[in-house]
Amino acid sequence: GARGSAELVTDSLTVRFGGLTALSAASVRVRPGEIHALIGPNGAGKSTFVNTISGFYSPTEGSFSLDGIPLAGLKPHRIARLGLARTFQNTELFGEMSVLENVMVGVEQRRRYGLASALLRTPGFRHEQDACRRAAIGLLDFVGLAEYANEAARFLPFGHQRRLEIARALAARPRLLLLDEPAAGLTSGEIDDLELMIRKIAALDVSVLLIEHHVDLIMAVADTVTVLDYGQIIASASPSVVQADPRVIEAYFGS
Ligand code: ADP
Ligand code: MG
Repeated sequence: GARGSAELVTDSLTVRFGGLTALSAASVRVRPGEIHALIGPNGAGKSTFVNTISGFYSPTEGSFSLDGIPLAGLKPHRIARLGLARTFQNTELFGEMSVLENVMVGVEQRRRYGLASALLRTPGFRHEQDACRRAAIGLLDFVGLAEYANEAARFLPFGHQRRLEIARALAARPRLLLLDEPAAGLTSGEIDDLELMIRKIAALDVSVLLIEHHVDLIMAVADTVTVLDYGQIIASASPSVVQADPRVIEAYFGS
């Protein structure tokens, strides 16, 4: 992660779907290098937030930027190139491709040699491919999947598919990584591994925005917790402060 962590700032981000306001004037700051959790009940607008800042949805109002570069109106691949990578709430892998190839796709998208050299299979192209392969193997090692490199992705157990998605997102060498509910469907042992992995990612100098339901994981790993409720931000502070906030307790932790 030699590119360094980035700061994400959203300013009064509003997203409407017809008459429904999924996100209402949301202003969030993810500081460089921090692990920032975004939490809230189902339907609060968390995925809408992620889909908007990664360019899949257009905001109705408001703006957002990465290290001061305005992103509103940019296509997802442009935003990705500026350093924002993401995983999806529902894992989206290339099931027929090998585990290694799934990661190489991410590396190749970043490095991008010319089509002509690819077709002609020039020495430069082959050198590029070797470099991509080495980078992809390094990432599989990082997420603990090196031994599965040549298996078809669809044969991986669910928990491993989630890790593979993270490896593929890291292949873009992000400056900010968005994880949309990475703990969903994982066993408690796998969630412990995930916590370690998130710490390792932050240690690479990558900012992390973690969308999660799993309260124990958030409280263990996050530097800052932002709470969404009905599309509105009701708190944004350290885990201990947020956990003691009466509005948050009522909206989220209350039972
Ligand atoms: P969360 O991820 O916090 O569970 P979402 O962002 O998925 O919440 O959804 C917030 C609200 O916006 C929900 O009421 C949801 O039905 C609605 N919504 C999300 N995406 C769309 C869409 N593409 N079209 C219409 N409504 C949507
Ligand atoms: Mg969601």
